Amino acid sequence: MDRASGRSGRARPGVWLTAAAVALVWFVGSGSTSTFGPGWTPADLLGPRALVEVDGRTVAVPRPASSEGRLAPEVPVTTSGEHAFLHVHDDGSPVGYDPCRPVEYVVRPDRAPRSGQSLIDDAVQVVAEASGLVLVQVGETDEPPLMDRPLIQPDRYGPGWAPVLIAWSGPDEVSELEGQVAGVGGSAAVPGADGSGLWLAAGRVALDAEDLGALLSRNGGYERARAIVVHELAHVLGLDHVDDPDELMHPLTSSRTDLGPGDRQGLALVGQVGCEGFS
Ligand SMILES: [Zn+2]
Repeated sequence: MDRASGRSGRARPGVWLTAAAVALVWFVGSGSTSTFGPGWTPADLLGPRALVEVDGRTVAVPRPASSEGRLAPEVPVTTSGEHAFLHVHDDGSPVGYDPCRPVEYVVRPDRAPRSGQSLIDDAVQVVAEASGLVLVQVGETDEPPLMDRPLIQPDRYGPGWAPVLIAWSGPDEVSELEGQVAGVGGSAAVPGADGSGLWLAAGRVALDAEDLGALLSRNGGYERARAIVVHELAHVLGLDHVDDPDELMHPLTSSRTDLGPGDRQGLALVGQVGCEGFS
């Protein structure tokens, strides 16, 4: 019996755990890997810039490219259900990606199961339609999906915030994927270039290639695997777990394979945040 058939013959419970998102989100300003504070760069003649410390280096917060406004219309809230946000402003409103700019992402294809890229494509389409955000794949990468991923990687991605990383991986590389955890995801909350406001940036998704590959080989497995990727991408866009088992943002997967009413409400709301100032 080869390893694959031995694995599929082993009894596995019918739940697919996704790790607690809170542990996966690296906060800017928390004093861990990245911190920021308002600061002025004397040499910057274009105006005040916030500074952010990344990997022990202090750099100016990237200025966003100019924008004419939202890239896609807001999605109206038409459903109601349990939803929660990973990052909120002082008034409780969600922190989200800037809807006036594309949410760029890169894929690390190593270890991807068959139909892995179409799984990502389909899941991206689900969260894009539900949020009114425009997600754009800007290439492939060999970047490892480290928990303390540097938020700015000029040598790899240029001077701005790193794009969202979606990587096929496993527990040997990402310890959070041990056991029945099929994926992890989150984003950093970062200040605007003038030090005010908060937006999400530099998200990360690690998908357990072996777990999802096994799931894909089952009847109906594609839809269940897509639901897991949607769940992780919803973490990236700012949604937290909820207790209602009939929402995809419940930490355990269930028979639900499409977005629940609270999932839809939450994604619509994170897609309605304001844009970082035009310049
Ligand atoms: Zn989760």
